[in-house]
Amino acid sequence: VGTAGDHPEFPVQNLPFGIFVPQNDGATPRAGVAIGDFILDLRETAASGLLNTAPLAQAALAAPQLNGLLALPPTDRQALRRAVSRMLSDEGMATVLRPLLHPSATCTMHLPVAIGDYTDFYAGIHHATAVGKLFRPDAPLLPNYKHVPIGYHGRASSVRVSGGSVRRPHGQIKVLGADEPVFQPTERLDYELELGIWVGEGSSAGSPIPIGVAERHIAGFCLLNDWSARDIQAWEYQPLGPFLAKSFHTTISPWIVTAEALAPFRLPQPARPAADPTPLGYLRDDADQARGALDIRLTIALRTARMREAGLPAFTLCKGTTQDLYWTPAQLLTHHASNGCDMRPGDLFGTGTISGPDDTAPGSLLEATQSGRQPLHLPNGESRTFLEDGDQVLFSATAVREGYASIGFGPCSGEITP
Ligand code: MN
Repeated sequence: VGTAGDHPEFPVQNLPFGIFVPQNDGATPRAGVAIGDFILDLRETAASGLLNTAPLAQAALAAPQLNGLLALPPTDRQALRRAVSRMLSDEGMATVLRPLLHPSATCTMHLPVAIGDYTDFYAGIHHATAVGKLFRPDAPLLPNYKHVPIGYHGRASSVRVSGGSVRRPHGQIKVLGADEPVFQPTERLDYELELGIWVGEGSSAGSPIPIGVAERHIAGFCLLNDWSARDIQAWEYQPLGPFLAKSFHTTISPWIVTAEALAPFRLPQPARPAADPTPLGYLRDDADQARGALDIRLTIALRTARMREAGLPAFTLCKGTTQDLYWTPAQLLTHHASNGCDMRPGDLFGTGTISGPDDTAPGSLLEATQSGRQPLHLPNGESRTFLEDGDQVLFSATAVREGYASIGFGPCSGEITP
């Protein structure tokens, strides 16, 4: 299809699934797949019977959300991927497909699934260390960190797709030295760079997911911004953990980049330092250790209102990598289901903030500014400790490997409003 062959994000090797609305009047949300600068309408393609080599997937594509597609065994999702790939690579199909292709720039993206549950982990060890250091310089990581994947139950209702505005939340804030808390807009609004994990095939209550088969329950990945109000968080988080400081908004990139598309970009899980404990048996699997980690490059950029008015581009604040995760996606899923909690298709996990070692790639402003003590200086003369109204935060991600087509995730952005 056109120049999709060398598209930086969506060549035919990617084929991420999403839900979109074409520009035409009266159009309703439907399944689509990104190809180059276009979206192929999968609902209409399926309705035309063009995907009958993947019958179960073809049926699932009639729905306005992708939960049904994610619920299928990976073999059915893979059959769909093969059928779409064949079709888009077949020049004889060009006339048939032309009316089913919409320029992406004219389409509106929606959440890809109805998210039942959203869980946020804390698997970025350098983030956990840097944040711990702010509070406990001598013992930044708590004793449980290297044994148990830490997480909390997030709020699914406020997960929103990239591109919207992010309203600065009000909350209870107790300023250092004050006797009483006040209720006011957060003054320490932050972002958190995370990878999102989409649960595919679910599990039944009481049935843990063994680590050896966990990968088949992960359908794909997205980018995730776990917006955080640090002053609200500091006052409310003990003893039960994050609550309203996190639940006001979470932004995700719109496309489900499939496990299949990311297969060439798997890596061995980095070896643990000799002093670290070996994970307990239920989290240990040779195949997962050999290829369960992901090699995805992550970028955070900031564009302030003044930069936009002056026509200046976004300024890159951070270049990170998913190799800085202490646990693999399979370990996170297996741990989550290990108590018998049932997983459902379309459940969303955040990995936790991904930062580089020793402040090299801070995945949040909390780290980049040492909790507001060291302002960030921007090239246009502005500075930031935390986000201001009008600031746009843009995450992007690409997977790159010699000999393979690079693939991207699409945008994960939001603009702060009062
Ligand atoms: Mn988080």
